[in-house]
Amino acid sequence: MNDEPPSPSSNAVKYKRIVLKLSGEVLRGGKSGDPIDAPTLQAICNQIKEIHALGVQICVIIGGGNIFRGLQGSKQGVDRTTGDYMGMLATVINGLAIMDCLEKLGVTTRVQSAIPMNQIGEPFILRRAVRHLEKGRVVIFVAGTGNPYFSTDTTAALRASEMRADIIMKATKVDGIYDKDPVLHPDAVKYDELTFLDALKQRLSVMDSTAFSLCLDNNVPILVFDLSDEHAIRKAIAGEKVGTLVHA
Ligand code: UDP
Repeated sequence: MNDEPPSPSSNAVKYKRIVLKLSGEVLRGGKSGDPIDAPTLQAICNQIKEIHALGVQICVIIGGGNIFRGLQGSKQGVDRTTGDYMGMLATVINGLAIMDCLEKLGVTTRVQSAIPMNQIGEPFILRRAVRHLEKGRVVIFVAGTGNPYFSTDTTAALRASEMRADIIMKATKVDGIYDKDPVLHPDAVKYDELTFLDALKQRLSVMDSTAFSLCLDNNVPILVFDLSDEHAIRKAIAGEKVGTLVHA
């Protein structure tokens, strides 16, 4: 497999190094309802391949909510810490699915896990992760931060700060941030852009508070967008108006 980094086509690329945060739910299929739906996974990986070919350095942080969330587990009687480890393991399953799919599309990947599991991936080593990006490999970070009581949004904020990424692209099933819940309120208004301060003042939930404060403190912009458009990520990379951008 070709391991050379693709040559960057700078006019199509506004962000050179990105953290792409995928919530676990984006892998769930509409038709099959499977936690990891093959056509949905393929469509997402095609989008990653498309921006990889533009020379963008990509870190993928994958959630696990399509399989297990510690908080939900604790409501059903599972010890919170145990449940959080179960959630982190769910991200490993999702990460391996993404790895497999991307490799089959000809994109070289490396999986780095915050909980060492040598048979499955490398341990998280910052300098090695940066080197992978420089060599044109997509780095998939799994097992969250490795600590219970955190989220994969916080992982994205942490890794983006450590890796000095230009932006966190948070792909969800909603097409941006609204002044109120668009499902409950048909008159909800979507924001194109927001400052961190606006988001705080209006108590808008962009990410959980730990993740949001990390982005605020380290000045990492966040783009919240919907993945269902098959070129959504490329459009976002080109700086087209997609989703909601939260910045300093
Ligand atoms: N988790 C954790 N520590 C982390 C990241 C994740 O304990 O650093 C656990 C937590 O239980 C969480 C689950 O893994 O609910 C899945 O992650 P998350 O809810 O962030 O996934 P997403 O909502 O993005 O699919």
